[in-house]
Amino acid sequence: MKLKILVVAGDGIGPEVTREAVNILRSVAEVGGHDFQFTEAAIGGAAIRAEGSPLPQKTLEAALASDAVLLGAVGGNEFNSLPPDRRPEAGLLQLRKALGGFANLRPAFAFPALAANSPLRPEVIEGADILFVRELLGGLYFGQPRAWQRESNSAWNTMRYTRDEVVRVARVAFELASKRRKKVTSVDKANVLEVSQLWRATVTEMAAQYPDITLEHQYVDACAMHLMNTPRNFDVVLTENLFGDILSDESGVITGSLGMLPSATVGGAINLYEPVHGSAPDIAGKGIANPLGAILTAAMLLHHSAHLEGEAQAVESAVRTVLERGYRSADLLRAGDTRQAATSTEEMGKLVNGILNDTLDRHQSLHAV
Ligand code: NAD
Repeated sequence: MKLKILVVAGDGIGPEVTREAVNILRSVAEVGGHDFQFTEAAIGGAAIRAEGSPLPQKTLEAALASDAVLLGAVGGNEFNSLPPDRRPEAGLLQLRKALGGFANLRPAFAFPALAANSPLRPEVIEGADILFVRELLGGLYFGQPRAWQRESNSAWNTMRYTRDEVVRVARVAFELASKRRKKVTSVDKANVLEVSQLWRATVTEMAAQYPDITLEHQYVDACAMHLMNTPRNFDVVLTENLFGDILSDESGVITGSLGMLPSATVGGAINLYEPVHGSAPDIAGKGIANPLGAILTAAMLLHHSAHLEGEAQAVESAVRTVLERGYRSADLLRAGDTRQAATSTEEMGKLVNGILNDTLDRHQSLHAV
């Protein structure tokens, strides 16, 4: 298997966690004899500093010439006073748009070993396994007009969707649900917003093509509560860009930390893989970031772009094993728990890689027999 992977590590903890994800992919390539070619390029604040743009043309060209893009995170406090279109985050939005992926897949599941890490009771989160399908190229993040008109002290953004944009992302959600527990929860605010009424009508119409899938609709405010009260009731959650951003971050609570959540963006010319978390300036440079979200993101790349299903599962299983053996990055240690030292980013990556290599070697020798 040959794959050209563009690595855009970005800012803050981005480079720290991406390094560990790349090590995982290198191991998979080495053991399985796959030809993964890695190229690096600048994005976000790092690119603004080096080249004056959050998405330099050569990064964009390298991304469009690749088979998959692996991103760390963008953003930094020094850029906070810039207007939105010149901030590091603008580079990420431009990249997402250029790659064309409109369905951002964000799994959130409860790792049994982390049951005590969640502020939710273990019996509430036990067995929770949710897949968010967040629309990524429409809604408030891209809708026009948008402005902050200082002279009138007013600002506005536009939440806009076309029927076709809803159809294509809903199709991804229904298809994925048909391979899971066959339930789609579509989240909107149809009691207030016309754009949500279009969303709801379109998703309802689509459901007729999937008679074996149970479709339910929830308002976003109620959904935010149900996710915390009864996370096991959810299978696939389909929602628009902003609601999906917020609800999937909220679901970090089920997993135990935002640092555990991976994502893949599919449906466009080139898939984009990025952990859900941001650049975490508060812990950047300390070597303490949790790399497991980035490593699980690498597993999504193995699944969706390399189609190496066994290897993707081996990565996920290695993450579970490391957690079962009791290793915890700082974000996974419970507040006030001073009995255990935190595992560093690099150590965590090495531990997962060690277990992964053992598993892959075992599989190799089984096949050789
Ligand atoms: P954040 O996700 O960076 O951090 C939120 C909290 O979670 C922080 O306390 C942080 O230390 C912690 N955290 C996040 N990831 C972690 C990890 N892997 N290990 C341990 N702890 C982790 O969100 P924020 O603080 O709201 O934003 C910081 C910057 O990141 C901002 O500039 C924001 O715009 C940007 N951001 C970027 C992305 C992206 O690149 N996709 C996403 C969200 C935020």
